Amino acid sequence: MSPAATSPPATVFREFLDSGRLGFQICASCEQSVFYPRVLCPHCGGQDLRWRESAGTGTVYSTTTVCRRNETYNVALVDLDEGFRMMTRVEDTPPEDVRIGMRVLLQVRHDPDRSEPVAVFVPAEA
Ligand SMILES: [Zn+2]
Repeated sequence: MSPAATSPPATVFREFLDSGRLGFQICASCEQSVFYPRVLCPHCGGQDLRWRESAGTGTVYSTTTVCRRNETYNVALVDLDEGFRMMTRVEDTPPEDVRIGMRVLLQVRHDPDRSEPVAVFVPAEA
């Protein structure tokens, strides 16, 4: 058993981010994707959750423009192609230009407001 298999889910998730990757889990019992990472499957209660690396491709499910400190930024729910949904931001494009159904790509970036890397998305079509 690898060390990662016994580490708390948040720790393993952070290790993925530190190496520029997005980790998620697949339940061995019901085969559904699990995100945010956790100890028990939220679908069936199974405890055998296997780590996977996301390909980082997804589709915007919902999008909101948030104003803070005189700047605007995007908050979005993105459906990853592996079948899970995450709250994130779409960057490198004006927030109001983010559209439902838009294809996006993962980028792991360092947020100056936080001490840890964050998974954000950029438009897939340049
Ligand atoms: Zn399950």
